[in-house]
Parts: sequence; structure tokens; C-alpha cells
Amino acid sequence: KTRCWPASTRVSLNKREVGDMGMKLILLGAPGAGKGTLASYLIEQMGVPSISTGNILREAIKNNTPLGQSAKEYMDAGKLVPDEVVIGMLKERIAKRDCKSGFILDGFPRTIPQAEALDEIAHIDCALSLEVADDVIEKRMTGRRVCLRCGATYHVEANPPRVKDVCDICGDKLVIRSDDQAEVVRHRLETYHEQTEPLKGYYEAQGKLKSIDGAQGITATEKFAVEALGL
Ligand code: ADP
Ligand code: ADP
Ligand code: ZN
Repeated sequence: KTRCWPASTRVSLNKREVGDMGMKLILLGAPGAGKGTLASYLIEQMGVPSISTGNILREAIKNNTPLGQSAKEYMDAGKLVPDEVVIGMLKERIAKRDCKSGFILDGFPRTIPQAEALDEIAHIDCALSLEVADDVIEKRMTGRRVCLRCGATYHVEANPPRVKDVCDICGDKLVIRSDDQAEVVRHRLETYHEQTEPLKGYYEAQGKLKSIDGAQGITATEKFAVEALGL
């Protein structure tokens, strides 16, 4: 089984050093596959920040910025925001200092042109795909609750907050995302299969694709990810 790094580097490194090595990881997977949930765990394990383009866009909508205004109609329809908008946004974000020693991308790239633009500005080590069937996704989405202040994600059954509808991390009120209603979810799944799933072939051709089962519980997914990444 191949790993993102040679197994030999793994034994002698502690987590801080792993972060310093600058692992640049992409999380792939359908909407609701568990990318954000896994990212919040991997931040600790890898010592690098996670960047969610969805969270950046939702924050822009909340603050009613020009970016938010241009993105909102696409998001509400379950469509992708145009490449030039998200590519510019992502470039700006990973140019920041905290990304120098690696990062986790949650929700980017989502199209081949986005992946090509990313390859021009960063050396990606690994694309980890969370495999979850569509019928499981539809169940997950109905129970998802999110914090629009800090971006944390919960599930009413699989990962409830300590206090109902209150964010454990920042205390803000949890909400249901407007695009998590069943009809929009179906549209987002179609968009995923058409435009984002081909990225698996893109990264496979580069020898960087790892796939894990994302349909088990949250701790099982974390364990599979740690194994696949050789952490
Ligand atoms: P999920 O976590 O359910 O996959 P995200 O929070 O990543 O959803 O994204 C929500 C919405 O934001 C997407 O449906 C899309 O409209 C927009 N979006 C996020 N990231 C991108 C991207 N890289 N390219 C285009 N649109 C994006
Ligand atoms: P994504 O970022 O890929 O859209 P999320 O991390 O937001 O996905 O997860 C979608 C929903 O499913 C959330 O409500 C989350 O709490 C829940 N969830 C995530 N991973 C699992 C899992 N392995 N088993 C059950 N529920 C999960
Ligand atoms: Zn919060």
C-alpha cells in the first residue's frame, strides 16, 4: 500500500514536525461526506490549518460583501460558484502565513480548472477521497447543524453539541444551512458527480489519490484517514 510520504519519514517524526514538513492535503467527497468533520480532527493531528471554501463563502454572505452577493444565488441553487471567483479567493487565503507549513483543503478544488489552478501555486501531497453512497448523504444532511460564526459542524444524532443548538466552541446559535433542504441536496449531488468526481481520476493520474470508506461512524473515518495518510 502506498502512502503520501515514505513510511520511513513517519517513524521519526512527532506531530509538530509533521506539520512543519508542510503536508498539503485535499479532502474530496460528496456534499455531506464528512470532509469538514474529518478536517476538524486532522487540524490537531497534522498541526496545519483547514480551509473551507464553503465557510468562506457563507461568511461573505452573512456579512453581505460583494463576494457574498455574487455567490449566494449559485449556492442556494446547489450550483458551483464560478471558477474565477473561488480560485481568486483560495489563492488569497493560502498566501497567508499560517499556510506556509501545510494546509487541508475542504471543498476545493471542485472542478478540473480549479485543480489545474491549484497545481500552479502549490505542491499537493495527497487527495483523500471520502466514499459515501448518495442515500447515506441524504440522511446526513437532514440532521446537519452548523455554526456560521466559527464554521463548526454538528449532527443531531451522530455528533450533537453539548447544549442543543448551541456551538460547543464559540457559543453561537446553530442553524440549518439553507442549501441542506432535500431538493437542493439532490442538485448538489448531481453537481458533485458531474463536475467534482472526475477529480479522483485527475489525482489518481498524479499518483496522489487515496480513498477511504466514509460511510462508517466518525471515529472509524478518523482511523481510516490516519492509516491512509500514515500519520
Ligand atoms: P459541502 O460541505 O456540503 O460539500 P460546502 O460548504 O463545501 O458544501 O459548499 C457549499 C456551496 O458553496 C457549494 O454548493 C457551492 O455552491 C459553493 N462552493 C464551495 N466551494 C466551492 C468551490 N471550490 N467551487 C465552487 N463552488 C464552491
Ligand atoms: P461535508 O463537509 O463533506 O459537507 P460534514 O463534515 O459537514 O460534511 O458532515 C455532514 C453531516 O454528517 C454533519 O451533520 C456531520 O456531523 C455528519 N457526519 C460527518 N461524518 C459522519 C460520519 N462518519 N458518520 C455519521 N455522520 C457524520
Ligand atoms: Zn461556533
